[in-house]
Amino acid sequence: EGVREMRIDYVYKVVVIGDSAVGKSQLLSRFAKNEFSFDSKSTIGVEFQTRTVTIKSKVIKAQIWDTAGQERYRAVTSAYYRGALGAVVVYDITKRQTFDHVARWVDELRAHADSSIVIMLIGNKADLAEHHRAVPTEHAVEFAQDQGLFFSEASALSGDNVEAAFFRVLEEIYSVTS
Ligand code: GDP
Ligand code: MG
Repeated sequence: EGVREMRIDYVYKVVVIGDSAVGKSQLLSRFAKNEFSFDSKSTIGVEFQTRTVTIKSKVIKAQIWDTAGQERYRAVTSAYYRGALGAVVVYDITKRQTFDHVARWVDELRAHADSSIVIMLIGNKADLAEHHRAVPTEHAVEFAQDQGLFFSEASALSGDNVEAAFFRVLEEIYSVTS
């Protein structure tokens, strides 16, 4: 792109939610900057990151919001959800409890966000699946189908499926809004 100004057709706000330490901030920096860090402190306080992508010849600026430490139940305020067209709900495939809490996060979304919001469930840390998996893929698939969510396992560490999952959300937003 160089220094030339880019025409932006749409700005899409997408919120990332889920329990603490499931890898939300790392998924975000993987998607926005293709970076990963084992020490996540550097991302604390960052409200959102952006990445501009092209979908069906439209230039779309994805503005992806991070809860930045507000993950305790009900601590995320309705302002966070305001105007969001997409949501990524994250759990850690090695921590059963983080999956058990997904229903609660989805309820929060249904309570605070627009009813047409596009929701993607991500089972993160798929790189640890072989030795540390605590949530069978089928359980998540079933839950996602039940709730009408998109679903993917992914790894912020390896980058596997991160791009695809975020693109799925953005493409779906594009198709429901145009
Ligand atoms: P957040 O609290 O949900 O934002 O979680 P962070 O993004 O801060 O990640 C929490 C911890 O999990 C950090 O130590 C990360 O390095 C680690 N982590 C995040 N994503 C992955 C992943 O895909 N695989 C592995 N093995 N570790 C990850
Ligand atoms: Mg974080």
